[in-house]
Amino acid sequence: MTLNLLTRNYAEQLDQQDQLNSFKNEFYIRDGVYYMDGNSLGLLSKRSEQTLLSLLNSWKEHGIDGWTKGEYPWFYLSEKLGEMCAPLVGAKAEEVIMTGSTTSNLHQLLATFYSPKEGKTKILADELNFPSDLYAIQSQIRLHGFETDEHLILVKSEDGHTLAEDRIIEAMNDEVAVIVLPSILYRSGQILDMKKLTEAAHQKGIIIGFDLCHSVGAIPHSLHDIGVDFAFWCNYKHLNGGPGAVAGLFVHEKHLGKTPGLLGWFGSDKTKQFDLDIEMTPATTAGAYQLGTPHVLSLAPLYGSLELFNEAGIDAIREKSIKLTNYMMELIETEVSDYGFTFGNPSDDVSRGGHIFLVHEEAARICKALKEEGVIPDFRAPNGIRLAPVALYTSYTDVWETVQILKSIMVENKYKRFENQRDVIA
Ligand SMILES: *Cc1c(COP(=O)(O)O)cnc(C)c1O
Repeated sequence: MTLNLLTRNYAEQLDQQDQLNSFKNEFYIRDGVYYMDGNSLGLLSKRSEQTLLSLLNSWKEHGIDGWTKGEYPWFYLSEKLGEMCAPLVGAKAEEVIMTGSTTSNLHQLLATFYSPKEGKTKILADELNFPSDLYAIQSQIRLHGFETDEHLILVKSEDGHTLAEDRIIEAMNDEVAVIVLPSILYRSGQILDMKKLTEAAHQKGIIIGFDLCHSVGAIPHSLHDIGVDFAFWCNYKHLNGGPGAVAGLFVHEKHLGKTPGLLGWFGSDKTKQFDLDIEMTPATTAGAYQLGTPHVLSLAPLYGSLELFNEAGIDAIREKSIKLTNYMMELIETEVSDYGFTFGNPSDDVSRGGHIFLVHEEAARICKALKEEGVIPDFRAPNGIRLAPVALYTSYTDVWETVQILKSIMVENKYKRFENQRDVIA
């Protein structure tokens, strides 16, 4: 018997065949909620809750001795988590550290790698990049006494959603000192070809770094092998590290030993840190890029979360993610094709990341109606709806239910009860 693709039975059958299906039980998901926003803030896992409580307990039990005692000694925690995250970004353990925030890490990396020289003073980025990255880049340019309109080159998008790698490569001229690009665009979910871009940059003697906020935990990476100079990312999206989780940073082995642009005592060689010398001895690992005391309680949930990722394996996660987004797109195309939706995300698997991007004039109020019906989407002004079926905790049945709810909202005009305006957080 062949099952009709549009039926709930078909979705249930896909769930039964899904090897990652049991990971859903590791997460706290409210009944009747279809959480499609794991690319903005991932859900809490029981494992993360447990490691957070365990670290809280080590403070309770050990006081200051928690730095070296307990199950997860705080003094080594950022390095330990860097090591656990390394397989997800395709790096060696010593190339990764958990520290800071996405934005502060970009500042640190530009303070290190953006050293303008005569005639080579510009930073190349793209107009679709996340604003915070662009703000950080602009302020670094100003700190060197340059004007941003002249020294920041923004590659344009032809369709408003995606970037053409060849346009980016054409913009890599002799005046460019550093390139900062996303691995996956935060709106359309387009994956950029990091290998191709890195090779092109290096041929022209340009340093290149990537923002992995939307790709870490969603797709496999090979930062080390590709030779990417640096990367940075947040851990609260696909990696489920919790609101305000400490972020990640990668510096390629070939640059380790270089003195970071911004120094702080937690970047010290661990054996020397408590010598408290006036001259700092930086670590010879990515740990050198740390500044002050780590935010231990905002690192803690990552421990449990990274365990889950390493158990599931990033290749299996990616494989399921592709199936989920494909299935979701197929259902949307058949069920609500008459209601004015278009896809802003790439349709081919190779360049589509972990979410889909639906474009609709009424997106703001469709999102409000979805929320009222238990689907948690993500609105992106002026007209985008991001939906992220997350491999570790979204089932095919959840995707099916989500599209049924979307259909009922459109068929019954339910969205018209809401104003077509975004909320403060969107
Ligand atoms: C989420 C996100 C950020 C967020 O930066 P924070 O410093 O963590 O607030 C930055 N860049 C991109 C591409 C993002 O998606």
